[in-house]
Formats: sequence, structure tokens, C-alpha cells
Amino acid sequence: MSKVIAIANQKGGVGKTTTAINLGYSLAVLGKKVLCVDIDPQSNMTSGFGINPVSLEHTTYTVLIEEDDIKNAIVFLKEMNVSVVPSSIQLAGAEIELVPMISREFRLKNALKDIKEEFDYILIDCPPSLGLLTINALTAADSVIVPIQCEYYALEGLTQLMNTINLVKKSLNPNLEIEGVVLTMFNARTNLSIQVVDEVKKFFKDKVYRTIIPRNVRLGEAPSFGKPISLYDPTSKGAEAYEELAQEVVERAKI
Ligand code: ADP
Ligand code: MG
Repeated sequence: MSKVIAIANQKGGVGKTTTAINLGYSLAVLGKKVLCVDIDPQSNMTSGFGINPVSLEHTTYTVLIEEDDIKNAIVFLKEMNVSVVPSSIQLAGAEIELVPMISREFRLKNALKDIKEEFDYILIDCPPSLGLLTINALTAADSVIVPIQCEYYALEGLTQLMNTINLVKKSLNPNLEIEGVVLTMFNARTNLSIQVVDEVKKFFKDKVYRTIIPRNVRLGEAPSFGKPISLYDPTSKGAEAYEELAQEVVERAKI
């Protein structure tokens, strides 16, 4: 059994990439076989794992556009026990290049088909848009994790995301589910953060993970060292939170 999870929210800066890196690593620490796939042209997940996205020969771009075998693109990070399919800036053009292509929504799903069973969890870090790249992720995925930032307008845009998920369910991937909603960048000292948690719980009910990711400077620093938080600062609140989230994800997904 394996589970493909898209980490999606078309808003930028809500914690998608931070969640992909740190949930991915924490799942690996729990003994799971993990593959993290970067489909954001900005390649933040790639560099956050310490991989330089410049001048890579095999990336999600070559996989999606040139039908390169995804096995060529997988980088196994031995010290983290995590596999990564890196992205590159070339992917910025893919949104348009995909438009006339045959089975344009299914290209990631097809690419993952042969390797899916080699992993317990495949996490896909989506770009901040609802274009064809995100559609590819939602089509390839069994479920979606939606990170929501505890900030002003937290719920804004979520109707659009839910509509897209429902459209994909109807026409491309009938079994797609919401895996969970994770609240990020929580600041216990502000009423606003507390209000956002309440609102999101009203809307998504038991889909909301008990674990709430606090705002933690160390989480913001870790990517520039190319490390997950649990390697960069294992005793930080951020590390603790993502380790807890991984346990909760496993409990719920039962894989
Ligand atoms: P997205 O992928 O949704 O655009 P990111 O995960 O890249 O969002 O997060 C946006 C910025 O906020 C990044 O600079 C990241 O390091 C920082 N960040 C993410 N989560 C936290 C957190 N819990 N506490 C502090 N900074 C965070
Ligand atoms: Mg990102």
C-alpha cells in the first residue's frame, strides 16, 4: 500500500513547501519510505532539501514534458533517507507547454505509476496556482493536505480550491479525498490566530489535524541550510510540531 498526497493551496506562503519537506522527513524518521516530488517552478522544496536546482539534467520538467523516466530524476538523500524528484525553473514554461499535450492532466500520474508501490508516502509540493501543474498533482494523488496559514484572509480562496478539487474528482480522479488540513504559522499570542483556528475547524471539522504548526523562526531558517528542521534544530518547537504531525498523518492514513 502506498499513498500519494498532494500538498496544495493556491495561495503562496502558507507553508506548503515547509510541510512537504518536514512532514516528508519526519515520516522517513518513522521508518516510512518517502518520495517528495517538487512541481513548483520555484524549486523551493528542491533547494530546501539541499539540492541545487540549477543545471540538473533530470527534473519534474523532463519527466512531465519530455517523458523522461521518473527513475532517472529520483535523487536519494542517504543522510535523510528521503527520495526527491527535483524541480527546475524550466517548469515555469510547462504550464503552457502542457496545454496542447496528449493526456496533459495525467502526465504525473502516469510517471508515478511504475514506482508508486516502492514508497509508503509520495508527497507532491504544488505551486501557488490552480493551473495544469496542480491539476496534475490532484489527478495523481489519492488525497490532498491543505496547509492554512493562521493569518488574515486564511479562508479566502479556499472555496476556489475546494471547487477545483471537486472538478478533478468529477472528471479526472473520482477517488480523490481531503487527507487533512494543517494549520500553520500559529501565534498563540494573537487573538487572530485563535480565531482562524476556530473558523477553519468550523469549516473543515475533523479534517483538521490536532497538531498545529507554530510560527517558529528556526523553520524559516532551515531551508537556507538545505535541511529539514529536525536536522537543523531538533529541539525547536517547529521540529517537535512536524514530528507530531507525521505521527498523526500515519495514524489517520494507516500506512
Ligand atoms: P508555500 O510553499 O506555501 O509558498 P512556504 O512553506 O515556502 O510556503 O513558507 C513561506 C515562508 O514562510 C518561507 O520563507 C518559510 O520558510 C516560512 N515559514 C513556513 N512555515 C513557517 C513557520 N511555521 N514559522 C515560521 N516561518 C515559516
Ligand atoms: Mg512552496
